[in-house]
Amino acid sequence: MSISTAEQRIRILPENIINQIAAGEVILRPASVLKELLENSIDAQASQISIWTEDGGKARIQVTDDGVGMSPIDAELCFERHATSKIASLRDLYSLQTKGFRGEALASIAAVAHVELFTRRHTDEIGTHIIMAFGERRLKEPVRCNPGTTLIVTQLFRQLPVRRKSLRTTPTEHRHNLQEFLRVAYPHPEIVYQYYHDDERLYYLPAQTLQERLLALHPTLSPADLIPIYEETPLFTVEGYLLAPEKTLPDNRENYLFINRRFIRHPTLQQGLWQVCKPLLRGEARPLYWIFLKIPPNEVDINVVPSKTEARLIHEVEIRQMLMSIFQKAVAQTYLGLPPEALHLPEGVSLGGELLRAVPASPAAPSPDRGSSTPGLFPSDRWAEPRHAGIESQAFLIGGRYLITAAHENGAWVIDVWRAYQRLSYEVFLQKRPLPSQGLLFPVHLPAPPPVVAAFTSWKDALTSYGLTIEVREGREIVLHTLPAGLSTALAQPLLEKLGHLAQEPPDLTAPIPWDETLPRLLHTILQTHPPRRFTLQEALSITERLTSTSNPNYTPDGQPIRLFLSREMLENLFG
Ligand code: ADP
Ligand code: MG
Repeated sequence: MSISTAEQRIRILPENIINQIAAGEVILRPASVLKELLENSIDAQASQISIWTEDGGKARIQVTDDGVGMSPIDAELCFERHATSKIASLRDLYSLQTKGFRGEALASIAAVAHVELFTRRHTDEIGTHIIMAFGERRLKEPVRCNPGTTLIVTQLFRQLPVRRKSLRTTPTEHRHNLQEFLRVAYPHPEIVYQYYHDDERLYYLPAQTLQERLLALHPTLSPADLIPIYEETPLFTVEGYLLAPEKTLPDNRENYLFINRRFIRHPTLQQGLWQVCKPLLRGEARPLYWIFLKIPPNEVDINVVPSKTEARLIHEVEIRQMLMSIFQKAVAQTYLGLPPEALHLPEGVSLGGELLRAVPASPAAPSPDRGSSTPGLFPSDRWAEPRHAGIESQAFLIGGRYLITAAHENGAWVIDVWRAYQRLSYEVFLQKRPLPSQGLLFPVHLPAPPPVVAAFTSWKDALTSYGLTIEVREGREIVLHTLPAGLSTALAQPLLEKLGHLAQEPPDLTAPIPWDETLPRLLHTILQTHPPRRFTLQEALSITERLTSTSNPNYTPDGQPIRLFLSREMLENLFG
């Protein structure tokens, strides 16, 4: 093609190239095909959908539905780009009731694969059979077929070798397919689904309730493991389940947020929910939820990314806060009968009035450091209360370790003070640097050979920012003069010794030591091997008071429970 002489160098691309470019955005792998076909079947009001995949969908993907079907004209049009029956005007785009709206999926799929369509409307006697291959129509003929629609996609990316090669192994692609399947199986429990892979039936899901569907998809769960969530607010309705915190699902660690029955990734909302769940979880286990939001379509914009898995919300801030409160309440009421204030209410999150009444009134003076929080919010720092409320008289310490406190109508807290102390100590080094330090009345000493001296000399500045002031005395002794504020002075000697060990075998002399991780870890090993300390009541109360400022007041860094709420029900059970 000579371009140097021509007057017109800009050309309008032929339709089949445009379609391939569009396909590049939406069709990345077999799972993207499956997703689009499933969404179309749902939009066609199917009550039964069957799926067959072969070789992870790389060889074949077939979706059959009993939906409304298409007329012969529509059957031909559906492969055109921007051909859709779902929106007619811009206004429709902001009142979407369907999953699809771009009219691009079938055109894109047909541009990069071999596609066979059988479709018939329930009122028609005869259906339509069309074959498309890599952007061209190969066949159109009348056919006898069931009402509804079948699409069969084979030879995906055959004429795009690079794309074809970038497909993963069959198990990997299969996993992606299953993931897409779940994303429509959860929000449409009323639809009957069958799923076959390589002729093996993986799922048969009858029409179910949401709870039944979740249990059917996760046979290891029982109803008690699902904490129900339901709330109607002026801005949205939320329904769904949270997995009980002590439960984990080995096979699935994805969180499911749906907006108007569409799977959505919304980091802002999801981080909020994570914040609520985190204190309840052991170690690294993630929260797991299936949350379905119903929001008026004109307050949601789905037209953000081609995959339609992101959304912009007009009332994002409000929805986030309300959702966090709702979560809080559901978790609190179900999990060990915990009163809601036991969980951290992040700043700016309020609880509903109904809940406030359900919780026995406490003489809630807001703690001084939260003084700036908005009036009317639930006081979030329960452990700051005893001082103001004079609850000391009602606190008991058993064996110098277990503190029973804050007893009220519905129960009392039992705190393992030794573990609380571990959590607090562990977090001292996680604060923002430079850490304030406290001088040691009796500095601690460590004899040191030259390599250790050299290591400490190079660490000196870094350690100072963590509240650890080091002196290298006469080239053969290390003296530790300060500890970060809040750390017990009893830990000075073991900590210096641990640092001494580290200096003898520095992991890599050239790389700087990641103190952020190393110091908490050293401290943690010290505390784990330390015999439990006995505490006085005053110490126990002060530790308990500071516990709420930690990132997780419920578990130690290695996942041991720190406190539990001894509820009235538990006592009743205990006494039979
Ligand atoms: P969109 O879903 O965005 O409208 P598609 O390319 O996915 O675009 O589909 C184009 C049109 O084809 C749809 O608007 C619909 O009218 C029709 N269609 C596709 N799949 C089906 C189906 N399974 N049953 C009935 N009609 C369908
Ligand atoms: Mg579609």
